[in-house]
Amino acid sequence: MKLVTILGSTGSIGRSALEVISKCRDRFKVTGLTANSNIRLLEDQIKKFKPEIVAVADGANAIKLRKKLDIEVLSGNAGIAEVASYSRSDFVLSAIVGFAGLLPTLSAVRAGKTVGLANKESLVVAGEIVMAYAAKYGSKIIPVDSEHSAIFQCVDGRSRESVKRVVLTASGGPFFGKSKKELARVTLEDALKHPNWDMGRKITIDSATLMNKGLEVIEAHHLFGFPSDKIDVLVHPQSIVHSMIEFKDRSYLAQLSVPDMKGPIAYALSYPERLEEPMPELDLSRIEKLTFRKPDTECFPCLLYAYEASKEGGTMPAVLNAANEAAVDAFLQKRIGFNDIPVIIKEAMNLHRKEPVTEIDVVIEADRWAREKAKAILMEIGDKK
Ligand code: NAD
Ligand code: MG
Repeated sequence: MKLVTILGSTGSIGRSALEVISKCRDRFKVTGLTANSNIRLLEDQIKKFKPEIVAVADGANAIKLRKKLDIEVLSGNAGIAEVASYSRSDFVLSAIVGFAGLLPTLSAVRAGKTVGLANKESLVVAGEIVMAYAAKYGSKIIPVDSEHSAIFQCVDGRSRESVKRVVLTASGGPFFGKSKKELARVTLEDALKHPNWDMGRKITIDSATLMNKGLEVIEAHHLFGFPSDKIDVLVHPQSIVHSMIEFKDRSYLAQLSVPDMKGPIAYALSYPERLEEPMPELDLSRIEKLTFRKPDTECFPCLLYAYEASKEGGTMPAVLNAANEAAVDAFLQKRIGFNDIPVIIKEAMNLHRKEPVTEIDVVIEADRWAREKAKAILMEIGDKK
C-alpha cells in the first residue's frame, strides 16, 4: 500500500489525483491533504478519503474544520510544511499553484519523499536548490506536467549522450493564429476557454500567453539537465503527442495519449509500474492528422522571455515567474489587457540585477522584489488607460 499526501487537493490536479486513487483504493491510501480556501470541498475529501493529517492556509478555516471533523487540522505555511513532510507518507503530490508551492515542495524533498511534481513554478524559481536537495536527501522527483511526464517516459533507461534535443509540444492555447491587434481585444472569458485541457485559472492564462511553455522549458532544463537551447517548442494543436526526444541518429521517440492529466498523474503515482486504464482510450484511427508548427513568438513573446531568463540564470527566472503571477492575477481581475501581461514581465526583467541563487532566501527576496515592481508597472499601465 502506497501512502499518499496531496498538496493542493482541491485544485484541478488534486481532484484528478483523488479520482485516480478512488479507483485503486487497494494500492493507495491518502494520509495527508492540504488546501487553500475551498474548505467545503476539502471537508468532502476528508470524509471520503479519511487522511490522518490535514492543513489549510488560513487559521480561521482550520478552526472551522476542526469543529466539524475529528481530525488534526494544521494551518499556515508551517502546517502545510508539516503535512508535506509527514512521516506516514511515501509519495507527495505537489499540486499547489504558483510560488506558494515552493516551500511545501522543498519540505517534501528534504524529508526524502518521492515527489510527484505538478508545481512547475518551484523548479522555475529554484530549480538548482530543489534538485540539489533531492540528490542530498534521496528524494525522487517524478514529473506530473504532461510534457515532462512524456520526456521522463522517453528518456527512461537511455544514455544522456544519445539524446540530441528535447521537443516540448504546446497546444497553442485558445488564441493560436491570432494577430497582435486581435489579441488586444480578447477578453478574460475568451482566455479561460482552453481548447483541449481543463485546468486551473492561472495555468489556463499561462497557456494562452505561451508563458506556460516558457515555464516548462525551464522546468525541463532542471529535471533533465539539458541546456535551454537543446529544448525546443512546437505548437501541436491536437495535444496528442505530449512531447518527444530526438536522438543523435535523428530518430524521434514520442509519447502519445488523449489529453487527460489522469494519465501523467497515474504514471507518477505508480512508477515504475502502470495502472489499468486511468484515462480514456486514444483511438488513432479517428484522428485525421497530427500537425506541428513553430510558435509565433512575436505575438506571444512570453516564451522568448522565459528562454532569456533561463539563459541569464540566477534570480532572473524567479523574477520572470513573480512578474507573471502578478500580471496574470491582474488580468484575472480584469485590471489589465491580455497584451499587457508580457509588457509587465519584460519591464520587471529589464529592471532586475540578477544574483546567483545561493540559498532559498535569495529566491524569496527576488520574488518579493519582482511582485513589488510588477505592481508599480501595473499602476502605470492603469494610469495611462
Ligand atoms: P488550481 O488553481 O486548480 O489548484 C491549486 C491548488 O493549490 C488548490 O488546491 C488550492 O487550494 C491550492 N493553493 C493555492 N494557493 C495556495 C496557497 N497560497 N497556499 C496553499 N495552497 C494553495 O491549480 P491546478 O491547475 O491544479 O495547478 C496546480 C499546479 O499544477 C500548477 O503549478 C500548475 O502549473 C501545474 N499543472 C497543472 C495542470 C492542470 O492540468 N491543471 C497541468 C500541468 C501542470
Ligand atoms: Mg504542461
